[in-house]
Amino acid sequence: MNHLNSPSLNRRGFLAGSAVLIGANALAQKTAQTPKPAEKPSAPAGAGPFVLPPLPYAEDALDPFISSKTMSFHYGKHHKTYFEKLNKAVEGNKLAEMKLEDVIVETAKDTAMASTFNNAAQAWNHTFYWKSMKPKGGGEPSGKLADMLKSDLGGMDGFRKEFGDAANGQFGSGWAWLVVENGKLRVVKTGNADTPIAHGGKPLLVIDVWEHAYYLDYQNKRADYVTAYLEHLVNWEFAAANLT
Ligand code: MN
Repeated sequence: MNHLNSPSLNRRGFLAGSAVLIGANALAQKTAQTPKPAEKPSAPAGAGPFVLPPLPYAEDALDPFISSKTMSFHYGKHHKTYFEKLNKAVEGNKLAEMKLEDVIVETAKDTAMASTFNNAAQAWNHTFYWKSMKPKGGGEPSGKLADMLKSDLGGMDGFRKEFGDAANGQFGSGWAWLVVENGKLRVVKTGNADTPIAHGGKPLLVIDVWEHAYYLDYQNKRADYVTAYLEHLVNWEFAAANLT
């Protein structure tokens, strides 16, 4: 017999047996004699409708600008934990059936859902952040994105200044984004877990400016991390793909 089936057989056997017993004592006796059905194993950490996506590159691929040590904590602990907490929060409710983006929009409207929103948004933001970088990134975009940067933000110099100011000027934890708004490029910043997609925005790129993103490599020097992102990591192909 396939032993994997035995818990349900035991359960059926127990239920069938208990149905014909009448006294409480007899039931207790029967319960004691019948092997307890194996408990359904509790969900392993990370199980649930929302799955942590793999990093788009190796943990050490962005070294030395972002070390594998930072990546192992940032991706392997922080990002993973957001997914675990999100899965716990949606267990048994309608959010579990939704796409992650829809969970974010739905919970953003309700302050009582702040904790679920925070974990959902952080789960999404980090996946977007990993893709916003690549080994040997940096440089400049071409094509339509380059044209838009020129007309909307004053070209690469204007973009670097605005994006750097947003990233360095975000007080405390948060994110700096390049987004499209009403057909134009804009640089915006958000605090904590907040994300443009909660407000109908269309992000092209993001940098994480929570201290956990850079503290092991840069300590308090956020500006050095932001410069490294712009010069060596930013993934313009990803930004261009998000434009279409
Ligand atoms: Mn982070």
